[in-house]
Amino acid sequence: MTGQVSFDSHARNVLAASVEYVNRLTPGYAGGVEHTAPSDEPEAVAEALTAIGHPPKSVPLDDARRLVRLAGRMRIVFEAANTGDLDTAAAEINALLVDTNARPQLDRGKDRPWSLHFHGPDEQLANGWAAGCAAGLALAVGSDLAGRLGVCAAPQCDRVFVDVSKNGQRRFCSPQCQSRVKAAAHRARQAAT
Ligand SMILES: [Zn+2]
Repeated sequence: MTGQVSFDSHARNVLAASVEYVNRLTPGYAGGVEHTAPSDEPEAVAEALTAIGHPPKSVPLDDARRLVRLAGRMRIVFEAANTGDLDTAAAEINALLVDTNARPQLDRGKDRPWSLHFHGPDEQLANGWAAGCAAGLALAVGSDLAGRLGVCAAPQCDRVFVDVSKNGQRRFCSPQCQSRVKAAAHRARQAAT
């Protein structure tokens, strides 16, 4: 072991997907500005899917609305894990696993090797992804990676992240928030001299 976070690629993908969903679909603050809930849910879900490399042909409205609701519940997991409240995180994940009907299943695309997925092959878009996200979060919280789910520590930002760095010291959602905080600390030091 090198200390590197080792996840199989599907688990990594679904965790990255849950970060995109929470950050794009839940209201709060992002990088110092207010982030409102999406007014056009299918559009917002399509953008999230495109960001993780799965641009959809179309996203039905009720599917999109369900995913927006589920993203709000995924946020609870990140926020609880971020404060070390793994009991709350685990309870919410267990509820998500039940509600999304998550179940492990080996699938293979044409000419591709078998790989483990957490939903049926013909699942609706929202539920398929949400089941995968719930399973990915379960794998993280049920392992020594529980401390890797985080919420940005910068002021006026509550976007979430999965810390896949070697040292596990990540505190910010983005390089922009990190430099925002650094610049503010620099200004404070200068004002004090
Ligand atoms: Zn941030």
